[in-house]
Amino acid sequence: IKIKIVDIPVPITVGPAFEGETIRRADTYLEFGGGKTTAFELVRMVGPDDIEDGKITVIGPEITDVKEGDRLPLGIMVNIYGRKMQEDFEGVLERRIHYFVNYGEGLWHVAQRDLAWVRIGKNAAAAGLKIRDIGEILIAKFKSDYPAIVDRVQVTIYTDQAKVDENIKIAREKYAARDARLKGLTDESVDTFYSCILCQSFAPNHVCIVTPERVGLCGAVSWLDAKASNEITPTGPNQPIAKGTCLDEVKGMWQNVNEYLYNNSHHTLEEVNLYTLLDRPMTSCGCFEAIMAILPEANGIMITTREFGGDTPCGMSFSTLAGSVGGGLQSPGFMGIGRRYIVSNKFIPADGGLGRIVWMPKELKEYLRADFIEQAKKQGLGEDFLDKIADESIGTAIDEVLPFLEEKGHPALTMDPLM
Ligand code: SF4
Ligand code: ZN
Repeated sequence: IKIKIVDIPVPITVGPAFEGETIRRADTYLEFGGGKTTAFELVRMVGPDDIEDGKITVIGPEITDVKEGDRLPLGIMVNIYGRKMQEDFEGVLERRIHYFVNYGEGLWHVAQRDLAWVRIGKNAAAAGLKIRDIGEILIAKFKSDYPAIVDRVQVTIYTDQAKVDENIKIAREKYAARDARLKGLTDESVDTFYSCILCQSFAPNHVCIVTPERVGLCGAVSWLDAKASNEITPTGPNQPIAKGTCLDEVKGMWQNVNEYLYNNSHHTLEEVNLYTLLDRPMTSCGCFEAIMAILPEANGIMITTREFGGDTPCGMSFSTLAGSVGGGLQSPGFMGIGRRYIVSNKFIPADGGLGRIVWMPKELKEYLRADFIEQAKKQGLGEDFLDKIADESIGTAIDEVLPFLEEKGHPALTMDPLM
């Protein structure tokens, strides 16, 4: 392994060796996000005069202002100027925040955008780590890893609730604009998909196939991001895969995709279907935003999220499911996904699409509501389909969910047998 040594002025060690480190709640000194407090992260391109290179500002309490076990809101705003920087690169660089923060010993980062979740371990706090040091790490890593496009970096970290609330609006506008750019693109309208093998650092055989209508399962790598990433680093983790011969249009299998998968899964996986959960589905690493699982009793599927800590009708919580699904394996009937994949035209069309969903957490329903309703109408399920899907307020056991589905006349009950 080649490790790039960069001298970063922080009191902890920073390097890929710490990437897989987890920090349990009991070992946490200070926590941000994770559904408990508001948190977001954003990378923005700015002009040469709108940036003070190397400047780090923390607006709100520092770690020295809180006590062990506290939680704070968080907003990480990274401004970047570069002569060769493009707006299309913002999302790509933003995803790197996840990796760079995790490189810090005693730092832990999960998810992305306005779902970000960060912990500072007791060990790092004892070593004297400050919140501002996250800025030091980001500036050093962005400059050392992307010298071709990053000339100047400035980081502002908000931990003040009002400031986080104010700036998260800017971030959400950016996220929405990025998602909108993807909207006109379909899997059929492009001749190239992209791979992502960033997560092979901890799930060695995992390969995400990113298409216009299927975001990487971390939710952070869209087809446009993968394309931009390949432009930035042609030999990097995102490689173009010319679609070539289609082997199965319904299940979504392509010869070149299979070939790429075989060569990049260390010859452990031979075939993958992009449009089904049941037959050689995509592999799952560990950073999926949500997991779907079959519920044979309901002839449908359920979805749960990282944010939903409770039990689910398949008998397992998110973390139990994640433990058995992750690691880079194909597990028919179970799959990690990005949240936005649910409202895609290519959401398991081979298995019946959106109409198969019988249960998901309330929060996920609200998160997707507008797009979900639009998609349900498109798939002929009606405007009120979302209300026919059970959630934790109906029950988390299958025998609580079934009567509800029957009463609502949920379409899955009369669809073709799932298995
Ligand atoms: Fe890439 Fe997939 Fe990992 Fe996201 S989950 S970073 S798309 S390999
Ligand atoms: Zn991953």
